[in-house]
Amino acid sequence: MTNAQKKDMPKETPEDDASKNANEEMMQFETDVFRLLDIVTNALYSNRDVFLRELISNSADACDRLRYEALQNSKLTEKSAPFHIRITPENNTTTLTIKDNGIGMDRDDLVENLGTIARSGTAAILENLKNSGQDKDMSLIGQFGVGFYASFMVAKGVTVVSQKAGTDQAWLWKSDGQTGFTIREATTEEAAILEDAHGTAIVLDMKGDSIDYLLEDKIKQIVLEYSDHVEVPIYLDDKFAEENKKADDATDEEEEQPINAASALWTRPKDQITADQYKEFYHHIGNVFDEPLMTSHWTAEGVIEYTGLLYIPSLRPWDLYDPERKNALRLYVKRVFITDQLDTLMYPWLRFVRGVVDSQDLPLNISREMLQTNPVVHKIRNGLTKKVLGEIDKLSRDNEEAFTALWHQFGGVIKEGLYDAVEHRDNIFKICRFFSTHDPEKATSLKDYVERMPENQDTIYYISGDNVSSMRSSPQIEGFISRGVEVLLMTDTVDEFWLQQIKEFDGKKFQSVTQGSINLDSFDKKEDGAEDKTDEPKDRVDVDALTTALQTELAEHISFARASKRLTDSPVCLVADEGGVDMHMEQVLKLQQKYEPNRKPILEINPNHALIKKLSEIAIENSDAETLKDAAQLLLDQALIIQGQTLPDPAGFAKRMAKFIEKGLV
Ligand code: ADP
Repeated sequence: MTNAQKKDMPKETPEDDASKNANEEMMQFETDVFRLLDIVTNALYSNRDVFLRELISNSADACDRLRYEALQNSKLTEKSAPFHIRITPENNTTTLTIKDNGIGMDRDDLVENLGTIARSGTAAILENLKNSGQDKDMSLIGQFGVGFYASFMVAKGVTVVSQKAGTDQAWLWKSDGQTGFTIREATTEEAAILEDAHGTAIVLDMKGDSIDYLLEDKIKQIVLEYSDHVEVPIYLDDKFAEENKKADDATDEEEEQPINAASALWTRPKDQITADQYKEFYHHIGNVFDEPLMTSHWTAEGVIEYTGLLYIPSLRPWDLYDPERKNALRLYVKRVFITDQLDTLMYPWLRFVRGVVDSQDLPLNISREMLQTNPVVHKIRNGLTKKVLGEIDKLSRDNEEAFTALWHQFGGVIKEGLYDAVEHRDNIFKICRFFSTHDPEKATSLKDYVERMPENQDTIYYISGDNVSSMRSSPQIEGFISRGVEVLLMTDTVDEFWLQQIKEFDGKKFQSVTQGSINLDSFDKKEDGAEDKTDEPKDRVDVDALTTALQTELAEHISFARASKRLTDSPVCLVADEGGVDMHMEQVLKLQQKYEPNRKPILEINPNHALIKKLSEIAIENSDAETLKDAAQLLLDQALIIQGQTLPDPAGFAKRMAKFIEKGLV
């Protein structure tokens, strides 16, 4: 690029020339943008350098997008210089210009992209962060897809000249970040700032406290820190240095060197990439600012060839459960960026994985629609999945702390894969961890559970619920604990779903402890000499009269009542029958799908509990006794409360309770 080709942004303001303003329109920002700008301009961010990273990132994307368009229509870049980004500091006018010869924007694009926020609700989220004092670093701005507005941290005015590839008109957008923006056709002179017939120039009129961003060293340092990996070369115009050089040797036309490495990071050998560079690249592609919890960079060779550079975040993306959330992997074909919206490239249950895949086998001119069903993409997905699951498994052995953090953040999502991708089920099971009654601190793998199983146990027992501590004290597992039979504590809603479909692991059946009749007689009581309360006691009472009475009294709510083998301390519990869904699943379905169970639960009573013994005696004497009626309701209420359910008739419960207490006292 010669100096003659570089023209400065005209310093005229639109008001200088009335005829030129004939088509100028004054427009308002969307309300959300106003709110956002207020946050950006007024908050004191500790790190304002990131504005440059954001603008460079936009420029690099614009080049990527045009490179892709040009695959179909080579005319678009026929006469253009190679893709590049140019940064020009101007000390006289205190402006900093960042320009690219990327795809550019037409009038509608400018209004849409630089006047609104793509995702509704973003400003509100940011405002919440501000109010809670979490806005101190700029880390969140890029994450919400609003990087351009970061310009207003350092600039009191921003002028954008842009021309969309394939059109013959450049546009000029201008704003002070406060009152809205103006937009009009750019004059030929103004459009000349663009070096090709497409691209974007962003001219920042720097605030007084931001002129250090005009310093060459400062710019270089920021580019090196944040944008070194950007594949497009970034040039820095330094007028002062150039003039000095010209005076020295006017004939020496050295080729201009970019200030970044300008080669795709994933194509470099691993041993030439530093941890910081990997991290910065992750920040760039993921629009996130946490530390990656896992970084994996490899080249697959064989039937299909590709390079993958994948990351697992340490923080859960804020929209992880947003159904609109798209796959975030960036697909390149032979280094040309193709898309970051190909959902068939990664399973939805690995949707938190970020990174780049560069394929050697896909044709460059394939349409994005065709990619969806392409068999090579399918194979790549399998390869990526195996790799990710394998690396997580390895992490579980090498770095337990990191693995535990990962599982805590993403385990619930990964488990969706158990029913979504049968071919990867075994590998998913390898990394699945569950809390259990074995160790209150540490979650266990299924393999370890099975290894601990006594010989005569052929079933994997589990209970599911909302939280571990209430499950630990749930009456249904009392008998298991007293006999030292380990029970898995399932806390994720998704557990209910895969357990419906997957009946066994390693040949051992899964069995909910809140479902069906369970006979624990074959298990020895605990060795600590504790009395085994489920053994047939000498003073056992006949509970048949009571179960019959309860059945009659509670016919509306339960299918029947029976003596329990699983209770040791509590008087009652509810369980589901063999064929139905388990108790917690039923609650989940009720909430999520307005499901009305067609089977009623079974009420189990503990024949060894003093209260049950007493009630049995009453039932034997007079099965119609008034006390029995109230007691039946109270027992049911109690079972429901323990299960964390809301009572259908809390006032009735309170009355019955009061009556009973009164009886006890009087
Ligand atoms: P994001 O880049 O995260 O989408 P921004 O607020 O930074 O959010 O930019 C909004 C949009 O403006 C971009 O998505 C892009 O479509 C457009 N844009 C910004 N800068 C450029 C540029 N240099 N060239 C072309 N389009 C751009």
